[in-house]
Amino acid sequence: MGAAAAEGTTNGLDLVLLGPPNSGKGTQAEILEERLEIPKISTGDMLREARDAGTELGERVQEIMATGKLVDDETMAEIVRTRLAKPDARQGFILDGYPRTLPQARHLEEILGSSEKLEAVVLIQVPEDELVRRALARGREDDQEEVVRKRFRVYAEKTEPLVGYYRKLGLLREVDGDQSIAEVTEQILEELKVEV
Ligand code: AMP
Repeated sequence: MGAAAAEGTTNGLDLVLLGPPNSGKGTQAEILEERLEIPKISTGDMLREARDAGTELGERVQEIMATGKLVDDETMAEIVRTRLAKPDARQGFILDGYPRTLPQARHLEEILGSSEKLEAVVLIQVPEDELVRRALARGREDDQEEVVRKRFRVYAEKTEPLVGYYRKLGLLREVDGDQSIAEVTEQILEELKVEV
């Protein structure tokens, strides 16, 4: 892997991607998974899989997801705790879509424990009109206009406070998401000072 990535750290390269809906987090998480050789952990994907498989969890969250609301923090902590306990997450991970609330940020710290610390929280910034344009162009099945608007409101209310939280902790790295996919990736890697 980016051996340089892990050097000097006691734990793996533990990353969080933060950004509004349609900021390109998921796309970047996928690319970074390949480039850094650490798993991307997308809570949205995990919940969609549960929903599609019709598990008990899936049944419970499908209505919440369909309306653009957030699944409760305790359920999310359980999902993330279980996932991070898997051996492939030991060398680091890219969290995409978690944490999304301040309590979730604290849960994540608990899950990691005192010996393991986040390396960085990458905020992908995109102007609002571009986000709306992307949302409308995308037309994912659950992307009706009302749900899209709800998602943005929830982001502003619940998730945006994490920006200040992580900035205070000195973990925030801000990246311009209004560029080509490749340019965004390069800027992220530059911010992380990772050579791959
Ligand atoms: P995403 O693909 O990340 O936009 O996630 C899709 C949906 O899954 C969200 O609109 C939420 O309903 C739910 N979800 C994903 N991650 C979380 C999280 N960390 N906390 C609460 N709900 C989540």
